[in-house]
Amino acid sequence: MGDKSYLNRKNIIDILLTLQRKNPISRAEIARLSNLTPATVSRVVTELLKRKILRERGPGVSIGGRRPVLIEFNPEAFYLAGIDLGITKVTGVIIDLHGNILSKAKLDIDVSEGKDRIIEWMLTVTKKALSSTSRLIRSKLTGIGVSLSGIIDTNKGLSVFSPSIPNWHNVPIVQLFQNEFHLPVFIENDARAMALAEARYGAGRNYDNFFCINIGHGIGSGIIINKELYRGKTSTAGEFGHMTLVPSGPLCHCGNRGCVEVMAGGHAITASAIRVASSGGNTLIKELVEGDIKKINAEVVALAAKKGDDIALRLLNEVGRYLGIAIANIINLLNPELIVIGGGVSNAGEFFFEEIKNVIKKRAFTTMVNNPEIVTSALGDDASSIGAAALVLSEIISTKGLLNV
Ligand SMILES: [Zn+2]
Repeated sequence: MGDKSYLNRKNIIDILLTLQRKNPISRAEIARLSNLTPATVSRVVTELLKRKILRERGPGVSIGGRRPVLIEFNPEAFYLAGIDLGITKVTGVIIDLHGNILSKAKLDIDVSEGKDRIIEWMLTVTKKALSSTSRLIRSKLTGIGVSLSGIIDTNKGLSVFSPSIPNWHNVPIVQLFQNEFHLPVFIENDARAMALAEARYGAGRNYDNFFCINIGHGIGSGIIINKELYRGKTSTAGEFGHMTLVPSGPLCHCGNRGCVEVMAGGHAITASAIRVASSGGNTLIKELVEGDIKKINAEVVALAAKKGDDIALRLLNEVGRYLGIAIANIINLLNPELIVIGGGVSNAGEFFFEEIKNVIKKRAFTTMVNNPEIVTSALGDDASSIGAAALVLSEIISTKGLLNV
């Protein structure tokens, strides 16, 4: 293990991982964050500049003396693909090393059509995203990241189980993509992929430790510690949606009662709104769907609330209160610098966030010393697919190195 090539490889990995945490960055700061000597940093950076993996950028801010030259990823060194499987659509993106989207493809789907169709759609979207880029970009594609809901086995490359997709068990996603594209393929849970995207390119860019919640039909989350995803022993960390809020609450599809997801997810909002509308409640929600109760969903409720409908406001306030309680617990547990909220329900409007913030202020014990900012996702609908692509770079650096270094 002490031989020179191993050390060189390890130094390169350490420096590239540091660049992932901060990009652009000075040589001195790389040395400080990576615990390598300035001489080693200088030697390895020179090598990576020569290989065009990194590039120099104009002087940074002076801390006394000459302003340092900053080092950053050469955005055109490699390209990354990310595919996200949602319940109603598949999204695919090709990004450069700065997180810019160069190509995007989207397909509306219906997961009830079964496993084979879903896989076909995922491969089709990947091909579409690839075919609308140049041949040069395709030749520099380093790998493909895939994100989807549910339990993932990152080591075996399996989607073990997804509660939102019928008959979906142990699907060998990595193998299926590798057979088709002959590239390295990695897999991650969609909420954790979203957190990674926010850490690299979004709302969490300037933070080391934060908590990112995805509130869509279901509720997931990703924990970022020291700029990296915290996965836990078997890659299931972050199941915020299945923390118990109300012990005798409604049954959740996970088998437990009163989970955060069943009290505050998109499905919960829809179910409550349908209940009120069908029991003759006087609400704008019914007018917005022209009396067709089947068309009620969380977006409709949010729209009615924005127009000042009392019942919609009350429903979303209740959801905000439950989320506030759950987030207060997270703040007490993790002491994060920031909370990022993404997913469809996060578009519900300012009043919704106000309710969450009020509850946190009342309930979190530690807010007297730490009242973290609560912000919406900076990457919106594309967060999970960008995160899946970002995953490729992290995995390639830490497991294989770049360019067989
Ligand atoms: Zn549950």
